[in-house]
Formats: sequence, structure tokens, C-alpha cells
Amino acid sequence: MRKKKPAIILKDVLVNDYAAEGKSIARIEGKVIFIEKSVPGDIVDVKLTKNKKDWAEGYPLEFKKYSNDRVEPFCEHFGVCGGCIWQMLPYQKQLLYKHQQVTDNLQRIAKVPLPEILPIKGATITTNYRNKLEFTFSTKKFIPFEEMRNMDKSEMPEIKGAAGFHARGFFDKVVEIETCHLQAEPTNKIRNAVKKFLIENDFSFYDIRNHVGFMRNMMVRLATTGELMVNVVVGENNPEKIEQLMQFMVASFPEITTLLYTVNLKFNDSIFDQNPIVYKGKGYIIEQLENYQFKISPKSFFQTNTKQAETLYSITRDFAELNGSQIVYDLYGGTGSIGIFVSNKAKKIIGVELIKEAVDDARENATLNKISNAEFFVGDVIDICTDDFFTKHGRPDVIITDPPRAGMHEKLVRKLLDIEAPLIVYVSCNPATQARDIAWLDEKYEVTKVQPVDMFPHTHHIENVVQLKLKTSG
Ligand code: SAH
Repeated sequence: MRKKKPAIILKDVLVNDYAAEGKSIARIEGKVIFIEKSVPGDIVDVKLTKNKKDWAEGYPLEFKKYSNDRVEPFCEHFGVCGGCIWQMLPYQKQLLYKHQQVTDNLQRIAKVPLPEILPIKGATITTNYRNKLEFTFSTKKFIPFEEMRNMDKSEMPEIKGAAGFHARGFFDKVVEIETCHLQAEPTNKIRNAVKKFLIENDFSFYDIRNHVGFMRNMMVRLATTGELMVNVVVGENNPEKIEQLMQFMVASFPEITTLLYTVNLKFNDSIFDQNPIVYKGKGYIIEQLENYQFKISPKSFFQTNTKQAETLYSITRDFAELNGSQIVYDLYGGTGSIGIFVSNKAKKIIGVELIKEAVDDARENATLNKISNAEFFVGDVIDICTDDFFTKHGRPDVIITDPPRAGMHEKLVRKLLDIEAPLIVYVSCNPATQARDIAWLDEKYEVTKVQPVDMFPHTHHIENVVQLKLKTSG
């Protein structure tokens, strides 16, 4: 039998700095140790899970001293739920690290001349900021290792099911949530009442390993307009049970303006190929940014932090320097929200987006806002944005690009270099890939403004807006 290597434990390690993706680092004799669940200033014993020549990775086995920066997390589920992993840091410190990360990425990856990076725009509301939450119902409740270790097996509670969020690293387990601070009430009340109803009426919870059980997921969307949409996803096509649950929800929560259910008999949880059925209401909600209204259906994409989306889009509009005469391309446009938001300052908006349903929503949203200077096209940006396309719709004065985490396709970057729009606004949810793309764009563009925005307080996610201008030759 192969001998198991003994675990490496580093004692009394001082965590010096913040890294990325929510991890911190310690430097020991030139070697970088990435440590999860710790913050700069902590002194910890670290158990290594990976050990390479120049770097290692591990988790704190014991905290010898907590950093003076730490504050008491406000959520009872902190540490178990993988949601808001930065609650132990004061908000101002979170912002500082996010700002630093944008700077680091631009300096180390983009390596281009930079203007002063504007102070990160923090959120004024740092709890209950999400307009969408998705809960999972499961037969299996996640119990943290330490709790499990101290439990007498005979004491293990017999559970019918748990309702909350997926446990990180366990595809079949759910972290039971009593109160989540990411979305305003009645979200917690609804989830807890539904769970109680299921248990009392002996409705089963979904078992994703064996693919049996009734209650699977619940998505709650609460708009700043007060409209509230709930979509209940069940794993059995059982009309009586569905009817009972729907009736219960309608009677208990009259504030739900749209109630839907979706029967998902597939093995995976995605509802993109499923058909939500409207039980009550109009089947969608209206969200509002400034004076613009957006229709959100159960499957629509919409920025999850409405207030900060308004901030993000205003910055994007400012950076676009619009005066009413420009042709603006909104690439990776989703449901057209940025294009619509800037439309009254542009001559024409041309949106490009991969997902057909999103483009349908974009067109509907344009109509809803009586916008007649916007057109939306379905397809991959690298297929759509051809010379012919630009000739047909007009040479871009401004390009707004908002790609997913992977950043822009290199082919698109080459096309942008080719087409030479005088101004590009690059909105990104991943400063590392954004920095890579900026390095490519450096051939013809200079970075003129950088504005990080915090869309997701208490998490390590960062949004960053960059303005790039075509370099003048000579
Ligand atoms: N600008 C929008 C959406 C940004 S999310 C907003 O603020 O709401 C990124 C979008 O890019 C998603 O809608 C995704 O479907 C789309 N997308 C991803 N890859 C794409 C590609 N290759 N071509 C076109 N769109 C793409």
C-alpha cells in the first residue's frame, strides 16, 4: 500500500496581504501561500492542500490571533454559507481590497500607462441589495465538519429536507437558511413558510442523487417597484400537489404579484429549457432604472443589484461622452439594458447578444420605453461584428462592451482594432480578463479612465469600467 504523505502544517503564519477570489496570502521565504477564510493581519496555523515549488494553498486549522481589522459578521450563517465570505471585513476595507485588485491587475497584466484609478464606487445599501435569489430544497442538509464530529450518531436529527443555498463542494447538500440578508423581506418568510408547509403536508424534498422528490427550487425576484415574482420549481408533475402549494402561497403572501411554477423533470436544475407556467399575475415584473422600465420574466437576465446597476450604467454613460450624435454599439448587450439606458443621448444604438430570448426582451424593453433608435441582433459577437455589419449600420463612434467573466474573444479584439472606433467603454465583471484585453487593445488605444464599482458588498466580486480612447498617431 502506498504510504499517505503526512499533512504539512505551517505554524504561526502571519497573513500579509489580500490576493484574489476571496483568498489572502502569506509570504514565507519567497514562497506565496494562498489561504482561504483569512484576512491580512490574522496569525494562523495553515494546513496545506497543495504544495508547489513557488506557491502553496491551504486553509486555517487554527487562528492564533485574529486581525485587528476583523468585525463581527452580521449573519448567523456566516462561515457555513458560501455566500458573503467577506462579512468579517469592515465595508471600507472590502472596498480598499477591491480597488487594490483592479490596480494590481491593470499594472501586472495589462502593463499599460494608466491614469489615476478613480476611487471605487461603494454601495450605499450593503444588505438586502439583491433583486434575485434562488433557493434549493433538498433531502440533504449540509452539516459542517466540526459540528458533525462532535455529534453522537444516534443524535443525528432525522430530517425531511432543508431549504437554502447549495453547499460549496457538495452538489447534493443544502445549507439551511433561516435569515439571509441579501434580499428584503418577504423572501425569508416565503422560503421558511413553504418549507414548513411541505413538511406539515408530507410533500417530499428533491433528492438530486436519485432524482426523486417534489420540491426542487424557488426563485424570488423583488423589484424596486415593489413587484414580487416567485417561481417554484418542482420535480414531479403532480397537479394536485402543485395546486395545493400554489393556493397556500397565494393565500399566505398576497404581496406576490406574479406566481409561477415550473415542472422540471430533468436531472439538472437549469430552467432555461423549461416552461414556467403563470399561476397568478402577469408572468413578469417591472424593474426601474432612472426613468427606464425593464420587463423581467422568470428566465430573463438582469443585473442583480438594481441600485448599483444604476450607478454602473450612469458611469458607463458618462464615460461614453455622448452628445446625441453618435452611433453606439452595445456588445454583449444581454437584455439591452445598457443600450436602453444611454439611448436618449445617442443617435442610434446597435445591440449584439448571443441569447435569443435576451434579444427578444431587449426589443420588448425598447418598445416599453418608447425607444425607436435602438436595434438588437442575435448571435455571437465574432460572427455578427463583420465589416459588412459595421458598413450596414454605420461606423461606431462609441463601442460599449460588457463581456462575461472570460472577457472578450481575441478575434473580437482584433476586429475592434481594425474598426477604430474613437472611444470604447469596457464594463467588466472580471478585472483579470479585462486587463488582458486592454493589453491587446494597447496597440491602438490608451486607457483614459478607470472606475471600479462595487455591485456585491460582502463578496469578493468586482465590477470595473474602463474608458479607452483611440491613440492619435504621431
Ligand atoms: N450588458 C448586459 C449583460 C452583460 S452579461 C447587462 O448589463 O445586463 C454578458 C452577456 O454576454 C450575456 O447576456 C451573455 O449571454 C452574452 N454573451 C456571452 N458570450 C457572447 C458572445 N460570444 N456573443 C454575444 N454575446 C455573448
